[in-house]
Amino acid sequence: MFFFSIFLLIIGCTSKNDNEEFFFNGHWVDLSYSFSDSTLYWPNNATGFKLDTQVNGITAGGFYYSSNTFSAPEHGGTHLDAPVHFAKGKLSVDELPLESLTCNAVVIDVSQRALKNADYLISVKDVQDWEKKNDIIEPGTIVLFRTGYGQYYPSAKKYFGTDMKGTQAIAFLHFPGIDPVTAEWLATQRKIKAVGLDTPSIDYGQSKDFKTHRVLLGKNIPAFENVASLDQLPAKGSYVVALPMKIKNGSGGPLRIIAWVKS
Ligand SMILES: [Zn+2]
Repeated sequence: MFFFSIFLLIIGCTSKNDNEEFFFNGHWVDLSYSFSDSTLYWPNNATGFKLDTQVNGITAGGFYYSSNTFSAPEHGGTHLDAPVHFAKGKLSVDELPLESLTCNAVVIDVSQRALKNADYLISVKDVQDWEKKNDIIEPGTIVLFRTGYGQYYPSAKKYFGTDMKGTQAIAFLHFPGIDPVTAEWLATQRKIKAVGLDTPSIDYGQSKDFKTHRVLLGKNIPAFENVASLDQLPAKGSYVVALPMKIKNGSGGPLRIIAWVKS
């Protein structure tokens, strides 16, 4: 049943001939960070992830039982930005079709340049250079960028550029993001399905207008942020399943994102 389910998922996005080999010779890679006290949130969030124990121990009936309550802002840790996050009237997290959250993915590694410049903006040339070595990105692909900043998670100082908290910290955020020009190009020239990366935001830390969010979410293209373990995926040929918590009318939410990779 397990393999059969994967097989059905994969059929939707890859050519039939490749399916059987891909499906029998692969493994899952977990691209999500655990939620805990260390989960990183935007500095102006008053609270982070909280897990409160309700019950933990032997009950009157003599059996063990544990149950917790959790609370968290929508946007933090590995999470999804739904289109309505920056675009009025667009899809909320519960409205996103499953087809927009599952498909073939490519990983574009920009870490060489981004690790040297915390204000790095991923360019159209970065994507075109990747295409020269690999292939043209097909319509409906999930595009993941590896900036290398994932190695710093959950150190706020290294990952955000500051470990200050509060609204005043926002001016000190330094991490790479996607240039709005690249976002527009990916949406219109490559008709991508979704985008993700290993930084806190698809806009770089110094962004004031969040243009990349507005461009992509405005076209109902969701974004995955704080994606983990992108170094474990090949440049192409993985299959991503990205399922956020289904919060009614949510602007985003905690995301379990995994990738099936050929072994
Ligand atoms: Zn977000």
